[in-house]
Amino acid sequence: MAKYEVVIGLEVHAQLSTRTKIFCSCPTSFGAQPNSNVCPVCLGLPGALPVLSRGAVELGAKGALALNCAVQPESVFARKNYFYPDLPKGYQISQFDKPLALAGHLDVHVNGETKRIGITRVHMEDDAGKSVHDGFKDSDRFTYVDLNRSGTPLIEIVSEPDIRSADEAVEYFNEVRQALVFAEVSACDMEKGHLRCDANVSMRLKGAEKFGTRAEVKNLNSFRFLKQAIEFEMERQVEILESGGRVIQETRLFSPDLGETISMRSKEEAHDYRYFPEPDLIPVRVSPEFLAQLQASMPELPQARRPNPYLVPRNCRLLRARCPRLLRSQTGRELGNGRPRRPAQGRRQGDPRIAHSG
Ligand SMILES: [Zn+2]
Repeated sequence: MAKYEVVIGLEVHAQLSTRTKIFCSCPTSFGAQPNSNVCPVCLGLPGALPVLSRGAVELGAKGALALNCAVQPESVFARKNYFYPDLPKGYQISQFDKPLALAGHLDVHVNGETKRIGITRVHMEDDAGKSVHDGFKDSDRFTYVDLNRSGTPLIEIVSEPDIRSADEAVEYFNEVRQALVFAEVSACDMEKGHLRCDANVSMRLKGAEKFGTRAEVKNLNSFRFLKQAIEFEMERQVEILESGGRVIQETRLFSPDLGETISMRSKEEAHDYRYFPEPDLIPVRVSPEFLAQLQASMPELPQARRPNPYLVPRNCRLLRARCPRLLRSQTGRELGNGRPRRPAQGRRQGDPRIAHSG
């Protein structure tokens, strides 16, 4: 294991806290009678036309701002075609080559180091329904489908492959959750399925430039499962590589009972989905005025408020006496001097290792 390095990217799905669905006015309330919050649009009946919810775009854009992303002036919805029993339309309405927002980041603090994890993109999409595999008398023979969730607004947050350990992945997932909760974009209640993530995990020899072949572990809905799934994948892939085999690109599922990931299907490529622009929706345009309003409505976010835990408080007397130079190397802003700070922009990050060597 010591010869290898893990490369991880996360795709986080968060349910936006709108009262209604993204393309129709059905409620998103949790725990309703199965198949009661549905209409021709979210049932995917022929001829039904989607109408984009302004509230969903507002929350999606706020979420992107909370993740330090640049909201794009124009984004385009696209059809992602695949068959699944709980996807009555036969396609998901998502965004492909023109997503809502690009190029964000979040900082994570792990083992005495602060690290910036890049965020490639944030895009909007509708959720599928739910297949219910157990809980019924005849569950051994049948799967039930509940379409209440069909059409619930989601944002998908795709990270850069910057994550290098299970702990970093957990910290990053937690930071995403906090940013979205503080910005009131999503309740992020994992028990209710508001937040889940897919982990792309691959191994490479330390020092190698090229990424190894990755496996994608789908639908992780707790921090613990994320950590367990990554750790299992690391061991599984190293075992394959060490025995001279090749890791195959595939989608896997994590079984909490076994503590293992299980192969689900070989990984499809983007072209298998035959993405094309959604003909029933016009492009989403975010005007500079609208964006400025959203920016002004943003609360102070945890990353901006929280002092870097690896920087030294200015009022530490012992340090002031022993290492005055160390304290001078940190600016007042970085010391968490109690004054509220503005989110993200122009914030300088101190080097946490300086604080530690003191
Ligand atoms: Zn509906």
